[in-house]
Amino acid sequence: MSTFKAPKGTYDLLPPDSANYLAVREMISAPLRRAGYGYIETPGFENVELFARGVGESTDIVTKEMYTLTTKGGDELALRPEGTASVLRAALEANLHKLGNLPVKLWYSGSYYRYERPQKGRYRHFSQVGAEAIGAQDPALDAELIILAVDAYRSLGLKNFRLLLNSLGDQECRPVYRAALQDFLRGLDLDDDTRKRIDINPLRVLDDKRDSVQKQLAGAPMMRDHLCEACKEYHDTVRELLLAAGVEFEDDPKLVRGLDYYTRTTFEFVHDGLGSQSAVGGGGRYDGLSEMIGGPALPSVGWALGVDRTVLALQAEGVELRLPSATQVFAVPLGDDARRALFGIVTGLRRAGIAADFAFGGKGLKNAMKSANRSGARYAVVAGERDLAEGSVQLKDLETGEQQPVALDEVVAELSRRLA
Ligand code: AMP
Repeated sequence: MSTFKAPKGTYDLLPPDSANYLAVREMISAPLRRAGYGYIETPGFENVELFARGVGESTDIVTKEMYTLTTKGGDELALRPEGTASVLRAALEANLHKLGNLPVKLWYSGSYYRYERPQKGRYRHFSQVGAEAIGAQDPALDAELIILAVDAYRSLGLKNFRLLLNSLGDQECRPVYRAALQDFLRGLDLDDDTRKRIDINPLRVLDDKRDSVQKQLAGAPMMRDHLCEACKEYHDTVRELLLAAGVEFEDDPKLVRGLDYYTRTTFEFVHDGLGSQSAVGGGGRYDGLSEMIGGPALPSVGWALGVDRTVLALQAEGVELRLPSATQVFAVPLGDDARRALFGIVTGLRRAGIAADFAFGGKGLKNAMKSANRSGARYAVVAGERDLAEGSVQLKDLETGEQQPVALDEVVAELSRRLA
């Protein structure tokens, strides 16, 4: 072991498990790519003000969890705690909303950073795949994104996840509701911090996990009873479209989520096998965010799914992803001439699209065969001096144990045929 360890709240992705993470990212993004979402990559850090304005000055993410730094040049930066603000910033900066059709559909995959109290499923560095559809207000777009997330989870083989759905209203009806909620909350017995929240962001009080608070919230006014006609109709259409697509959901009138920018459709995916960190993904509509960061009115909707927790959910359900073996053929040379010959064959196999590896480091037969078995390869190509003298190698099927000689210049073709 070296003197150093991974920083608190982080962990390393190592083979063979890391292959699952790659596959999860791939399988979450596949439905998006089939639905016209283009890949976007933004820097790992942004101007801190973008998150303060975009995510919200009253959120835990901004007040407690951001990794901020001042550069030598005096810039105030933050490691990105989430993806939406950055993606919208980038789209506005590049005028994507003026160049082509709206909505601009984008997907991303990357690392995010929050200074949280670490526990299982909650890390200081984690990974998300996300999607944003920028510049259209259409219930079908909200439904599309939710369906794509559900299809992604299903394609992974997950079953025990649930979709929680709510509407947070818009600039018409939310202020009226907010005032009604504030009146109600002011009559409760709450600690000072929570009282402060009543003024800054009363909806977040609904999200308080403490029993003492939740008990008092029985009878609190709910957004769904205060939705204006337009928001209500919009929400009903989203619900109908989901049902028509065979997507089940639970109406959760208390779902507010931890970010300030949401309007109308809000949703969260929870998994029942994960304990307290049960949210595997979430998102919603954010019609006001573009203006909040200095852009034009661009109603938009998006989500982010957590890769780390999706992998934990797969483990909780005992789902093994069927991944192709990292190595299909393993070459075992005995002696220097064989090393040269088999090294050439391995290169040829790889160029023919076959995953092949080699017993490096001059191992003896026994150790080299151990490596071949450990690699998960289906075939071993073994050659010693006598084989080479006959112009052939031994092709061993590691599953059945059968072995037969194959001419040196036939090996690549023979293995291509067998592995096709
Ligand atoms: P949020 O933007 O907080 O809704 O995050 C979206 C998803 O990212 C969550 O549903 C989690 O799956 C994942 N996520 C958020 N924070 C963390 C964290 N600290 N550690 C691991 N995953 C996280």
